[in-house]
Amino acid sequence: MRMILLGPPGAGKGTQAKTLAQKLDLPHISTGDLLRQNVSQGTNLGKQAKDFMNKGALVPDELVTEMLKQRVTQPDTGNGFILDGYPRNINQAKALDDMLKERNDAIDIVIYLDSSEPVIIQRLSGRLVCSACGGNFHAANMPPKVNMICDNCQGKLYQRSDDKPQTIKKRLQVYLEESSPLIQYYNDKHKLYRLSADEDKDVVLSRIIDLAKEHNDPHKV
Ligand code: ADP
Ligand code: ZN
Repeated sequence: MRMILLGPPGAGKGTQAKTLAQKLDLPHISTGDLLRQNVSQGTNLGKQAKDFMNKGALVPDELVTEMLKQRVTQPDTGNGFILDGYPRNINQAKALDDMLKERNDAIDIVIYLDSSEPVIIQRLSGRLVCSACGGNFHAANMPPKVNMICDNCQGKLYQRSDDKPQTIKKRLQVYLEESSPLIQYYNDKHKLYRLSADEDKDVVLSRIIDLAKEHNDPHKV
C-alpha cells in the first residue's frame, strides 16, 4: 500500500501517519521530519533548507526530491509507505510518479485531510513536539501528562519555530497556491478520498483504515 496523506499544515497528517504506520506496518515518510533531522544534524542539505523552512516557504524541489528518492528506495519500503508532506506541488507529484514508475509501482490511494482555517490555526499555534521521539501533543487539545514532557519517552517538548503566527499564515498561503492543486491532480487519477480532519483524531484514523482496507490486498492489511 503506497498512500499519500494530503492536506493543509495542521490537518493532522503527521499525527495520523504515525499511528497508521504502526497499524498497517508500513514506514512513515515525512519530508518535514527528514528535513528537520538534517537541520539539527547540520548536514549540507540542512544548511540549505533551514532558511526556507523558518520562513514557511517550500524547500526547493530538487533538494527535497533527491532526499525523498533516497528514502523511498530503502529496503523497508517493499510493502509500501505512508507519505506525509510530499508531494507539495505538481512538479513533485510528477517526480514521484516517475520515481515509482521506474520500479513498476504507483501510488494506490491519496487521503485528503480537509480542515478549516480556524481549526488549523488553533492546532498549529498550540502544537508541541517531542525533541526525542517526534511525538505530537497540543497545549490545549492533547496536553502531555507532565508539563512540556513527552508521555511516551519523557523527552522534552518544544514549539516548532515555524509554528509562530506569521509563519503559520505564510505556510497556509503556500499551501493554497502550491499544494491545493494536488487535490485536482489526484482526483483526475481517481485516487483521491476526502475526509474531514476537523473531527476527533480517532474517528479520522478509523476512516483512513477503512479506506486502506478497501484499497488493498486483504492479506496485506
Ligand atoms: P506542515 O505540513 O505542518 O507545514 P511539515 O513538517 O510537513 O509541516 O513541513 C515543514 C516545512 O518543511 C515546510 O514548511 C517546508 O519548508 C519544508 N518541507 C517539507 N516537505 C516539503 C516538500 N515536499 N517540499 C518542499 N518543502 C518541504
Ligand atoms: Zn517522546
